[in-house]
Amino acid sequence: MIYDLAIIGGGVWGSAAAQEAVRAGGKSVLLLEKGIGLAQESSAKSGGILTDLLWHPEDQEFVTRSRVLYREARELSGDASVAREFGQLTLAEREYADQLHRREADLSARGVRFEMIGKDEIERRYPNLDRLREGTVGMWTPDDWHVNPTAFAQAVVDRAREGGLTLRAGCRAETIHAEDQKVVIEAGGERFEAARVLVSAGTWSRKLVRTAGFDIAMRPYRVQLSSLQLAQPHALPIVWHLQTDVYMVPEGPQNILAGDGTRLWEHDPDDYQQTGDDEFRMNIAERLLDLSSLGDSAGLRSSWAGLGGATPDRRPLLGPLTERLFTACGDNGIGVMRGPAVGELAARVALGLAEVPHLRPDRFPPTDFEIRPGFTLD
Ligand SMILES: Cc1cc2nc3c(=O)[nH]c(=O)nc-3n(C[C@H](O)[C@H](O)[C@H](O)COP(=O)(O)OP(=O)(O)OC[C@H]3O[C@@H](n4cnc5c(N)ncnc54)[C@H](O)[C@@H]3O)c2cc1C
Repeated sequence: MIYDLAIIGGGVWGSAAAQEAVRAGGKSVLLLEKGIGLAQESSAKSGGILTDLLWHPEDQEFVTRSRVLYREARELSGDASVAREFGQLTLAEREYADQLHRREADLSARGVRFEMIGKDEIERRYPNLDRLREGTVGMWTPDDWHVNPTAFAQAVVDRAREGGLTLRAGCRAETIHAEDQKVVIEAGGERFEAARVLVSAGTWSRKLVRTAGFDIAMRPYRVQLSSLQLAQPHALPIVWHLQTDVYMVPEGPQNILAGDGTRLWEHDPDDYQQTGDDEFRMNIAERLLDLSSLGDSAGLRSSWAGLGGATPDRRPLLGPLTERLFTACGDNGIGVMRGPAVGELAARVALGLAEVPHLRPDRFPPTDFEIRPGFTLD
């Protein structure tokens, strides 16, 4: 059998692509995932923040569309964890406050709801933020969410299977061979054939397209997160502190996820340290202490690391490598918030229903480049 479209990688991007491929009328669509479950790699390790506070206008549009798709998946599955509407408070002092103020016009023009609040009002609303410095300002964005990409992937793939999607989990694609009339994938000791193939294998995508004789400018880098146990219940929204780049996400009544910047050098997705560094664990605890006395009695539950895929311009690589082989990768650490929309678009491009030439994967030579963080206002 020759599938219309084979998608390699069932993270949040690939699962969204699978949903769209079936919706758009793909008669035979195959999703190959190396894990036993869907979205167990970077997607599962993420902080799950979805925010309008991004630096690139097209990424902001992807977030707007993703919000619709997350909401739809939440309704479909009845799983409230797919998207929780906590709102986000972005904190800034000194020059960072100016950076935040500069975003006001852009957010207003796009109809994004926000409110600027001073230190006293922040402390009144969120008494747990009891160690803010004088002069701190906050931007409150009520429509920023915490999302669960694994629950999203499960919901949309379940629906796509009802529409005819074939899912092969626990099946690792080893090689891809693009021929004139079809593409052949060797995976898990089997051979699959498809008219078109979309590689959406996250930070493994570069390794996979290399087996087909192509190379792309995507470099995996390491991102860490800790889960903290608090001694008392908290009443925090999502908090992002621009100065230190620390973010906190409510995880449970007495738990928060806390993360910071990144390890900006290249890592091998098949061989990297998946636990948090000692230095990171110490730093994150100290930075929490700067913002809140909750940190005084906080304990570490666990700490882990996953990978993001950097690209030279911090935008996705999305589109054709040949007329039959496509990729969608290069999440730049903000791929959960944009994943549903980017995956949807990738499926449409792979099926010949859309074109996005400015995101073509071959727009850069596959040489080394500086890895820069994507989750920033710059
Ligand atoms: C600690 C941390 C915090 C983060 N926080 C946020 C955040 O708050 N907000 C945000 O938007 N983003 C965040 N990110 C980034 C986000 O996690 C990623 O951008 C997103 O998960 C990328 O999704 P993906 O589907 O492209 O990749 P993945 O989720 O990695 O999915 C790729 C899939 O491909 C599969 N695969 C790989 N190779 C093969 C193969 N050969 N054959 C078959 N299957 C294969 C993998 O098993 C995996 O399931 C964070 C990342 C980390 C690590």
